[in-house]
This record gives sequence, structure tokens and C-alpha cells, in this order.
Amino acid sequence: MPVAAKPNTNAKEKFLAFLGTKNLRMTSQRQAIIETVFGTEEHFTADQLLEWSRARDRSVSRATVYRTLPLLTESGLVREMDFGKDHKYYDPNYADHPNHNHIICQDCEKIVEFESEKISQIENEISHRLGFEVKTQRLQITASCDEFKKRGRCNKKAC
Ligand SMILES: [Zn+2]
Ligand SMILES: [Zn+2]
Repeated sequence: MPVAAKPNTNAKEKFLAFLGTKNLRMTSQRQAIIETVFGTEEHFTADQLLEWSRARDRSVSRATVYRTLPLLTESGLVREMDFGKDHKYYDPNYADHPNHNHIICQDCEKIVEFESEKISQIENEISHRLGFEVKTQRLQITASCDEFKKRGRCNKKAC
């Protein structure tokens, strides 16, 4: 289960407005999915989103989750993340922190976010030298988490 993080009401409102421009009907299933997405700061897979949304509303179907995910990414409020795993992750934290970076454990897939002034500086410097202007940036580091480093495996290893 996701930690009960502070709900991102602002992003949720923006997404509802986005749905409005598409004339999409708000169903109770979709409502449960949206509450889930903007009620967590965790990165999630489609399967996790299905499980968490079902904890709110048993009627949420896999099909609705898979239909809603592209809308979430299209709105720009959720980003699809490819960490080189066989499933994609979705990140609900870009609305507030558009330039954050990730470090992920290669074993348990624990994801930690970080921001770095230094990285932004380096990217600006390189882009400037090459005659580009930075629009977006992302950095992903694959690593061994503390537990993996010490014990050669992680307890929280994802299924
Ligand atoms: Zn993130
Ligand atoms: Zn780990």
C-alpha cells in the first residue's frame, strides 16, 4: 500500500480540467484511479495502480486502469518512466518537481528521488557549449541499495 502522502490537490484539479477538455465522463472507477494517483508520491506500475485503486473501489477494472494511464501521461502530470525493467513505472511527482532525478536499486527496485543544483549547472554548461538550450532534464542512476550492498539481496524485493 502507498504511504498516505499529502494529496496533490493542485495536480488533481489540473487533470480534471484536462479530462474536461476531452469531454470524458467521470465514472466512479476513474475517480478512484485519480484519487489514488494524486494521493501518493510513490512511483507505481500499472499493476500497483490497479491494486491500490481497487482498495478504494472494488469495481476498478484492469481495462479502465490501462485506458486511464495514457490520459495521465498525455496531461503531462504523470510521467512514464523506463528504468530498463520489463514493466514501466509511473511518476506522479513531476507537477511539483519538474526537474527531479532518480536512483533505483537494480535488485529490489527501490526508487529514491533527488534534485541537484550541480547537475542542472553541468547540463546548462554542456548545452550552452553545444549551442542548445535545456528544456527538460532527467538523470537515472541504477545502483545497489544499502541492503543489497550489505547482504547481497533486498528484503523488499518486488515480485
Ligand atoms: Zn520521481
Ligand atoms: Zn535493493
